[in-house]
Amino acid sequence: MNTEDLLSILYQMPASILFKKVGEESVYASEGFVELFSLPGNLAEKPLAVSFSTIDFKVKLATNQSPFELCRKGEKVTDWFGIEIDHYTLSCFVQSKKIATPEGTWLVLLVNTDSHQKAEINSTDAHVNKHITFNQLLSQFSSKLINADVHELDDIIDQSLAAFGEFCNVDRCYLFEFSDDETYMSNTHEWVAPEVPPFIDELQNLPTQNMPFFMSHISNGIFKVDNVASIPDVAASERVLFQGQRIFSMLCVRIMAGGKRYGFIGCDIIGHPYSWKPHDVEYLTRIGEMLGNTLQNLYNRKSLQKMHIELLSANKQLERLANIDGLTGIANRRLFDSTLAADLVRCREFEQPISLMLIDVDYFKLYNDSHGHVAGDNVLKKLADTLVLTCLGNDDLVARYGGEEFAIILPNTSCDALESIAQRILGSVESLAIYHRASPFQQKLTVSIGMVCLNNVPSGDGDRSGDPVSATRLVDSADKALYRAKQNGRNCAEF
Ligand code: GH3
Ligand code: MG
Ligand code: MG
Repeated sequence: MNTEDLLSILYQMPASILFKKVGEESVYASEGFVELFSLPGNLAEKPLAVSFSTIDFKVKLATNQSPFELCRKGEKVTDWFGIEIDHYTLSCFVQSKKIATPEGTWLVLLVNTDSHQKAEINSTDAHVNKHITFNQLLSQFSSKLINADVHELDDIIDQSLAAFGEFCNVDRCYLFEFSDDETYMSNTHEWVAPEVPPFIDELQNLPTQNMPFFMSHISNGIFKVDNVASIPDVAASERVLFQGQRIFSMLCVRIMAGGKRYGFIGCDIIGHPYSWKPHDVEYLTRIGEMLGNTLQNLYNRKSLQKMHIELLSANKQLERLANIDGLTGIANRRLFDSTLAADLVRCREFEQPISLMLIDVDYFKLYNDSHGHVAGDNVLKKLADTLVLTCLGNDDLVARYGGEEFAIILPNTSCDALESIAQRILGSVESLAIYHRASPFQQKLTVSIGMVCLNNVPSGDGDRSGDPVSATRLVDSADKALYRAKQNGRNCAEF
């Protein structure tokens, strides 16, 4: 049989076959193959430009790995391949047969259509399994993210990118964040497959105006490029930028957080073009949504925290204001009451003495009458400062008790110590030498002091019921002592 006869028989084969003669380049296809591939009729009976790749079309096979070459070397091929002819592609199950004739040796590849259908079924199974695995992966990371502290977030995002990158078999996976006004974008997280160079350091603060093509797409939700070389010339500079990173295919989806565009998540294929499948888009979109929700959550938590801190500081300020006397700047009656109650409990618990003084300005009504009310206010301020400076105990509290009366709580202060502090106060006030025209004490302003020490509460004021002495009774005792000081001629301290 001569070559023409054999070619003619093989052409007419109903089975889907590719064939070539050893030593010649031309590859021919049977009618069955032309039909299977839906090739245009004018390609029948002509040599075809056939190339082989892995079943997912990701890696083109070198000539010495093509099924023809394997067959020529005597191997029996029974495997899956991606076959591409003039932009027509199909994943096929290929079986080889080497036929020797007196005219030469022929290599015949049977591209099994039945197996192809089976493969479709198998790939549907695989697809379902892939979806399940992806959903598991997603829920695993989303539960991590829900419970994450702010400082754990970066790690979890890195892990999510790595898991997605490996799962989808891409070469690089990344997260970009826009500046508030979207004038800049920065790569905040990156995962790269082994052997793939990282680019994160070079992708900081990139002006978005240099990438109008990319921005116009990502602003609307997605940027999908199967082949970077096909990016139109109007975006030539962006094409060059991507090619500079050896990117052939890119897929990015926008991330929304806090009601605005936060940034985007994306992945690249390096070294060969890849046609992104709907599930790739779906997976990346879902990861983007998950990160968006997390960032939104974080944003909400941050605003709550900020509000909380502002409230706390406002409360502190209010509390401070509520406890401070407006005229003198020292503790007011409110703080005095709460402090005395707490100090009483504490001193009782530690079996320590506690002392209290009430200080009243002498002839203050006369002072106001002769020097004016404003001068009277200034005297109260001066006295407050002096009292604070004179009471050196760490836990002492000097308060304005009301009008022109001051009170001092002195925890862990004995009667002797109390008396000497009172004398010191009388001395300090005298040293102020405040001119008081109507004062009998050399026309100087003076004060009278009533003292009480809890170890020294007069027996008449003792607690018959055995209950602890109350703050009210302590103040009452001090008030009575103050009355005695006034009775004794003023400018003195009495128990
Ligand atoms: P005594 O020696 O008996 O204490 O005589 P006194 O005039 O000080 O009598 P009393 O303590 O009853 O008088 C209180 C006076 O203190 C009445 C009021 O005019 C004056 N005063 C009370 N609060 C203020 C204040 O905030 N500013 C001024 N300027 N005067 C006040
Ligand atoms: Mg008074
Ligand atoms: Mg007075």
